[in-house]
Amino acid sequence: MMDKAKAIDDFLRRVDRFTQLVLVTDEEVSLLFGEEVTAAMAKLDRFSQEEKVCWGCGGICCRDVGCELYASPFGQCPVHEFRPIVCRFHFCQRFDGAGKSLILELRDIFLGCLTAVDFWDSASLRSLDIPPLAEFCPELIAAVCPWVQAVRDGRLDPRQGANLILQAAAEYRNTCSRAEGTDDTEYGVTAVAQDGFGTEC
Ligand code: SF4
Ligand code: SF4
Repeated sequence: MMDKAKAIDDFLRRVDRFTQLVLVTDEEVSLLFGEEVTAAMAKLDRFSQEEKVCWGCGGICCRDVGCELYASPFGQCPVHEFRPIVCRFHFCQRFDGAGKSLILELRDIFLGCLTAVDFWDSASLRSLDIPPLAEFCPELIAAVCPWVQAVRDGRLDPRQGANLILQAAAEYRNTCSRAEGTDDTEYGVTAVAQDGFGTEC
């Protein structure tokens, strides 16, 4: 059993250290939630890779939530390195094979963090409930939507489109950090390193 109360408490104590929670790195997720949640997410990722779970699905959840960044030709999330927090939890019945109780515990932790919005009005907390992303980063979405649409229409090579979007996402994160005077190293802002397609959604 995971210590859900500790994970939620860790998150709530640390969330205000971050200038934005729209697009986050693995390191930032680990800093926010602690080791147990990080290990559980890693287990789900391994399961997905070994069983080709998301590979075989093609991103139905991304399409169904209306994510502005979704285009099936990408083959995986175009901002995989910076994907939003909820995208990492795999609240999906195709992951039951990795352990249904694990999925349910992660769901409880996520909902516990999200419930804090009721008594603590924080833009970072509200931004947990994404995608869609436009409400929290409208300029980024306006900038990348033409590329996403071009990939959907077959007018732009998916790899090229994904690299453009990832660069824009990295710049968005850097701009947020500069605006708040954040120490990039402490908060894990990483260099762009698109690692190809088809590994995970
Ligand atoms: S989590 Fe993976 S398998 Fe489930 S709907 Fe999303 S892309 Fe498909
Ligand atoms: S993983 Fe998240 S951000 Fe990436 S395409 Fe899917 S829904 Fe959008």
